[in-house]
Amino acid sequence: MAIQDQTLEEIKNRIDIVELISSYVDLKPAGKNYRGLCPFHEEKTPSFIVSPEKGIFHCFGCGAGGSIFNFIMKIENLSFQDAVVHLSRKAGIELPTSKRNIQNKEYRQKAKIIQLNQIVQKYYYDSLIHSEDPLARTSRQYLFQKRGIKLSTAEQFGLGYSPADGKAIIEYLYQHGFNGNDFIQAGIGNVVRKGELYDRFRGRITFALHDTNGEIVGFAGRTLLENENPKYINSSDSPVFSKGNNLYGLFATKNEIRKTKTVILVEGYMDFLSLFESQITNCVASMGTALTAHQATLIRRFAEEVVICYDSDNAGKVATFRGMDILTKKGLSVKIAVLPAPYDPDSFLRKKGEEAFLEILKQKKPIFDYQLELLLNEYGSKSLESQIHIIRGLLPSINAMTDSIEKSLKIRSLAQYLKVPETLIYNVLKGTRESEKKIKLFKTTQKDAVHGSVKAEKILIKFLLEERSIRNLICDQLPIEYFSIPEHRRIYQIILNNIDEDFSLSDLINVFSGDESMSSCISALGSMETEFHEINEELIQSLIKTLKKAELRRVRTLLAGELAQQKDYESKLLISKQIEEIDKEIQGLKTRS
Ligand SMILES: [Zn+2]
Repeated sequence: MAIQDQTLEEIKNRIDIVELISSYVDLKPAGKNYRGLCPFHEEKTPSFIVSPEKGIFHCFGCGAGGSIFNFIMKIENLSFQDAVVHLSRKAGIELPTSKRNIQNKEYRQKAKIIQLNQIVQKYYYDSLIHSEDPLARTSRQYLFQKRGIKLSTAEQFGLGYSPADGKAIIEYLYQHGFNGNDFIQAGIGNVVRKGELYDRFRGRITFALHDTNGEIVGFAGRTLLENENPKYINSSDSPVFSKGNNLYGLFATKNEIRKTKTVILVEGYMDFLSLFESQITNCVASMGTALTAHQATLIRRFAEEVVICYDSDNAGKVATFRGMDILTKKGLSVKIAVLPAPYDPDSFLRKKGEEAFLEILKQKKPIFDYQLELLLNEYGSKSLESQIHIIRGLLPSINAMTDSIEKSLKIRSLAQYLKVPETLIYNVLKGTRESEKKIKLFKTTQKDAVHGSVKAEKILIKFLLEERSIRNLICDQLPIEYFSIPEHRRIYQIILNNIDEDFSLSDLINVFSGDESMSSCISALGSMETEFHEINEELIQSLIKTLKKAELRRVRTLLAGELAQQKDYESKLLISKQIEEIDKEIQGLKTRS
């Protein structure tokens, strides 16, 4: 078996790992490596490193790691095969057909749905512009007159209208080579009573939903009837669409967001389109009120600061609170732009104009000030009880402040504002921090309890991977059973099978085709610092000895268990003898070292 896969090798050679990861993570040079905030877990100090030399990334915080393929799998939520296809396109490499056919059934299905969505969009758009169906007229009135959307915007963002009969579209799809099953698979077709197939968006204004690359992955539909519920519906989940995984408009605004490092987050499709038409183009819509963690991760790929500008009603406030929490946890800086009641961004822009809206954005508030205002409205500041309520309510945002000067200034101004001594605030703060500290302490002691032999296993595997010249020396005297960690055994087996072959860490990672525990284990080994600067025979012997001792102890434990259960005297005697031998052997290893 050759370790290096030629296609993967070619892709790897053409794609610079630092450049690739930089488009998702802000990386800073750190010695031979690059360092940044991990996109896969929440953190404030960077523990995510990229090694261009080894072609791997690794996070010391959450253990994520691997080659470019693992990175794309994880961040774009793709299978290994899809990640290969994704990167081969980026590298401009044509995949061999054998690979495409066997590996990409899933990929072909996705491509088919995206193609179907494009055709559906053309149908919806044409219906919006030309249909004589009464609801089509209402749609045109609503979008172009009432809301003042420009035709070019409707085309760019894929607005449309789904005719009320809900069936003609199926005929249209047949003409383009799709059947009813494809329609259902794409999350648009809906089987209703008597087993009849309909378009779920029939009689609604439609909004195409794009992924970040601008491919149409699904649709949303808004009702035109006064009392129809729900007002908005989405495509059902499909291989390319999952509600809460996308942000509306991002495909068109991502470059502006990346440039300004700031994104304005609104709720609805109309809010987004209004902002976009007012030339405020660093915005996205969360599509409904509940921002998801997935959407927050997506935002972090492009922005550092988020300005939440939700509706001024109560639902909007609740959603703002929720959003603040999710976004800060992802390490984003969050500000709130507060609209006066009863406006949402769309109605405000149409009524008050662009200048007034820009002023609202300029007055954006830090989370702390925003929360204080809301808490004061809710509790008042007169009684000690309400003061403590307010302090408690503000704790999360005080604790989240990383700048200690900013923190003490905020505490001082809060004390002045509430007319309480600063010490009261510090005491409430301390109360929560003490309990947090205890939890942290417990965690680290558990982590440190890793057995010495596991460390020796890691060092040996690391040597084997990085120093070809010592492979024979180690492999000749180290049986595979000496490794206790299953991942280490799998790696060792590959090394034994390919002892004379040259391969890099990332080649090895790719052998396991996206197996997360393997890629994480190998990247951890690659990024591990050891205290040994020189590999010599003595060191190797002592490491092997450590492994051997551990293996003997494992066998001893098994035998001791058997001894306790065994009733037969002869067998008991035999096992006791074996244990005795092992004890002698362990003793011998100790004295010789
Ligand atoms: Zn991490």
